[in-house]
Amino acid sequence: MQKILVLNSGSSSMKFQLLAMPSEKVIASGMVDRIGQADALIKLKGENDQLTEKGDFKNHQIALNKVAQWLTEDVLKSPEEIVAIGHRVVHGGSHFKEPTLITGAVKSNIKELFGLAPLHNPANLEGIEVAEKVFPNAIQVAVFDTAFHQSIPEKAFRYAIPKKLADEEGIRLYGFHGTSHQYVNRQAADHLKNPAAKMVILHLGNGCSATAIQDGQSVDHSLGFGPLSGLVMGTRSGDIDPSVMLYLLKKGYLEKELSDFLNKQSGMLGLTGESDLREIIRKYEAGDQECKLALELNTYRIKKYIGAYAAALNGLDALVFTAGIGENSALIRELVCSEMEFLGIAIDPSKNEKGEIEIQADESKVRVLVIPTNEELEIARQTYQLI
Ligand code: ADP
Repeated sequence: MQKILVLNSGSSSMKFQLLAMPSEKVIASGMVDRIGQADALIKLKGENDQLTEKGDFKNHQIALNKVAQWLTEDVLKSPEEIVAIGHRVVHGGSHFKEPTLITGAVKSNIKELFGLAPLHNPANLEGIEVAEKVFPNAIQVAVFDTAFHQSIPEKAFRYAIPKKLADEEGIRLYGFHGTSHQYVNRQAADHLKNPAAKMVILHLGNGCSATAIQDGQSVDHSLGFGPLSGLVMGTRSGDIDPSVMLYLLKKGYLEKELSDFLNKQSGMLGLTGESDLREIIRKYEAGDQECKLALELNTYRIKKYIGAYAAALNGLDALVFTAGIGENSALIRELVCSEMEFLGIAIDPSKNEKGEIEIQADESKVRVLVIPTNEELEIARQTYQLI
């Protein structure tokens, strides 16, 4: 048995899971939230022990030291028991196609990509550097969110803009949520007993994305250069004509305002004033017309992506729902799958309501699956395989 720590470092948070491999048992998990603020909070959960406390975690190093101290006192005999740490790294550019052992050169590569993922890569790198200090004997591995989408062919990843500019600036579709899509893809293929299945995977959480899968590989994806395109999300717009941004720039809006507008104030929040789908559904059921329209608009966009990817794949064997909304909202699944008989998609209302793993109706040509995602487990698996 080998113990692997999975670390997901954000700008002001750190989430972790400690797993025993190859059994995949979760030994401990937790998070430190609001790092750097006076009201930072740490939550830790082991097999026999829990801890929730407020603390003064000025930086990631202090936070990880506390996690390491708790792990050593309550869960492990010594920190050396952790053989490897799998780090979530959001952007791997065109360079990283696989999980990668972290070296000085790899850290430089992650740094070079700061411009492409300014909110995520600096925090991810900080997590790596802190982990190297706190667990100096562990093998450090980077697992990139973009890696799974490196199989997307050029006809799908290239934008029709001047080639020279695109190549010089690295402007292309990179894709995100790759670790989730990769995990769900494998679970679905195993379930279907068909590694060659043509699938559309819908990752519907706060962030939302669709991936077209052929022969177990990502061949197209709805998020692009950044995490803004495609489906309507909690606070992000999804597809929008770029001329809207040019128009607003000309009107005097600043870059920061446009960024906040697209990333933080749009999507379901912009349409309804709420970003949490449970609240939107509650209001819709009480007769709120804005929430009704937002749900229609959102699921109409998802349908268009399913149609586009079914055409791109020249067929569809399975439609797969995952993440917070995909796994839990029977209403969203029902709206997405209604009036889709043309594509051979029909669901059984009772199976959908129960959230069974297969929810298609008997006459459906396409199998419709609900598969919980597990990014931490995928990172642990990839780290374990590499070491
Ligand atoms: P993240 O992208 O932050 O990982 P999640 O995958 O946890 O997000 O998804 C969060 C979303 O899932 C929220 O919009 C939340 O309202 C929605 N959600 C969670 N549970 C339910 C539920 N039972 N019904 C409808 N929506 C749900």
